[in-house]
Amino acid sequence: MTAAYQYETHEYDVVVVGAGGAGLRATLGMAEQGLKTACVTKVFPTRSHTVAAQGGIAASLSNMGPDHWQWHMYDTVKGSDWLGDTDAMEYLAREAPKAVYELEHYGVPFSRTEEGKIYQRPFGGHTTEFGEGPPVQRTCAAADRTGHAILHTLYGQSLKHNAEFYIEYFAIDLIMTDDGVCQGVVCWKLDDGTIHVFNAKMVVLATGGYGRAYFSATSAHTCTGDGGGMVARQGLPLQDMEFVQFHPTGIYGSGCLITEGARGEGGYLTNSEGERFMERYAPTYKDLASRDVVSRCMTLEIREGRGVGKEGDHIHLHLNHLPPETLAERLPGISESAKIFAGVDVTKEPIPVLPTVHYNMGGIPTNYWGEVLNADSENPERIQPGLMAVGEAGCASVHGANRLGSNSLIDLVVFGRAAAIRAGQVVNPNEPNRPLNTKSVDAALARFDALRYANGGTPTAELRLEMQKTMQADAAVFRTDKTLAEGVEKMTAVAAKLDDLKVTDRTLVWNSDLMETLELTNLMPNAMATIVGAEARKESRGAHAHEDYPERDDENWRKHTLARVDGNKVSLDYRPVHLDPLTKEEEGGIDLKKIAPKARVY
Ligand SMILES: Cc1cc2nc3c(=O)[nH]c(=O)nc-3n(C[C@H](O)[C@H](O)[C@H](O)COP(=O)(O)OP(=O)(O)OC[C@H]3O[C@@H](n4cnc5c(N)ncnc54)[C@H](O)[C@@H]3O)c2cc1C
Repeated sequence: MTAAYQYETHEYDVVVVGAGGAGLRATLGMAEQGLKTACVTKVFPTRSHTVAAQGGIAASLSNMGPDHWQWHMYDTVKGSDWLGDTDAMEYLAREAPKAVYELEHYGVPFSRTEEGKIYQRPFGGHTTEFGEGPPVQRTCAAADRTGHAILHTLYGQSLKHNAEFYIEYFAIDLIMTDDGVCQGVVCWKLDDGTIHVFNAKMVVLATGGYGRAYFSATSAHTCTGDGGGMVARQGLPLQDMEFVQFHPTGIYGSGCLITEGARGEGGYLTNSEGERFMERYAPTYKDLASRDVVSRCMTLEIREGRGVGKEGDHIHLHLNHLPPETLAERLPGISESAKIFAGVDVTKEPIPVLPTVHYNMGGIPTNYWGEVLNADSENPERIQPGLMAVGEAGCASVHGANRLGSNSLIDLVVFGRAAAIRAGQVVNPNEPNRPLNTKSVDAALARFDALRYANGGTPTAELRLEMQKTMQADAAVFRTDKTLAEGVEKMTAVAAKLDDLKVTDRTLVWNSDLMETLELTNLMPNAMATIVGAEARKESRGAHAHEDYPERDDENWRKHTLARVDGNKVSLDYRPVHLDPLTKEEEGGIDLKKIAPKARVY
């Protein structure tokens, strides 16, 4: 070590890493039960990416017409392309209405119907009558600023319950005891350079997705998969990482998101011939088919020469036929985004859009209580003591191979709450914390120090760009054996260059060079797991569209991928998908015949 680091130690029952929707809901739930809870976050809580969620949060409230939790569950199963875990998907759909009413009571300012009920809009893939009926209005919205409203409300509520916030603290690595229990996290306080060690009985990772492993993404620059990186460094697996969602409507050029709510409110896509081409591909649900389907159709149109613009490389999204009052009331934020990022007046012209990386279905494997699984094929349900993961960082797996729009915000609050309930059962506030394993702390600080003084030949920004371009080109909407094999080879070489990094700023106060370097060391294992898992999966399912294997292969591939990443090496293993629901049909559960695998058409 070039420098010796002093650190301050903090003791808590629970430390939550991340203050997005998932982290705040978990923090609030822990604090409400009287657990001594700290929430550590690298950005101010209300700057977490959840703030950018526009469209809304799914729950079968039936405010706009008939709906049922079983229809929501069916849509989620089908959306997942039969890769989601049945127990977790049932839990999500059943608990969703409760979780939304809870948000309402906490103070989320939802948009209202004439009668004063929570307003709900249609979203892709959400239907009635087990996919046999018309689209349903299930997505609860606060105009097009739903995430913003939820985040501010949950932050206020967490403060009210005396959760303690450590803001602009960067979590570097997990602390593990010699007998393999997670016992805390080592953090770097960004504004004064001090090191803080949190000793806790339970660590909850709520660090969000890793969209920034790609060149064009709708997610914030802070979405760097830090939780996944920390987990991978402890030899724990990541699950189903090959499933990356491309949102159909990122603004061409900037990647900034135009919510699916825009199509929910009546917007539609056209090609260079002015054709509403989705009618051809998805006759029933058209522009509101599931996201992976719409993204692929757009890509096909462009490939076949029917893209719009000078280069014929994007698609038009029309809102200009909608009444200006509707746009002003229901979609004010995206009207503004279209003006700023595309120079378009949505009341007059179409918005230029392109499928853009949006969401990571994969993540840290957990059960539906948020407990992290140290799983392999022989121990598919083995729990990693002391560690939970929730939100986009985790993989419970409710989204399987493809997430439905508005099912993430509900995932955050349902599983954030579930994790708090579970922690209430397994964490004993009256027991003393175990003494810190200082060896584990030292190992984290040694890694930090090595990066701080890294003096190789490759600047962080350069290597990051190389990774992002490779992932964008070779782990894209459409994949082939050839692109994936080349991608794995390139990424293996790119990841090896982590040993040759050059950091120029050696200070500890507001050192964005060092912070971005730490983030790159987290992005890289996420990216490696993604491309290696994709190369191995010889089928097409959900977001993983493999041109050499265009069919879904349930016999061989209805299973979760587990990827353990060590440097630039990835070893793969698999675990079964949970097929059993929580509730038997006789006791009010879903009829399993209804959710049996079938072809996925919209
Ligand atoms: C533009 C956009 C619009 C979306 N719209 C919708 C929508 O309408 N409906 C829907 O259901 N879903 C939507 N999604 C998806 C959904 O918003 C996200 O999946 C979700 O918000 C992720 O929440 P999270 O709590 O898991 O993580 P985030 O909100 O990303 O928060 C991550 C937190 O972790 C902290 N953190 C990360 N790393 C560290 C570290 N090393 N140390 C300390 N702290 C750390 C960050 O500070 C932050 O507080 C949208 C996503 C995007 C990008």
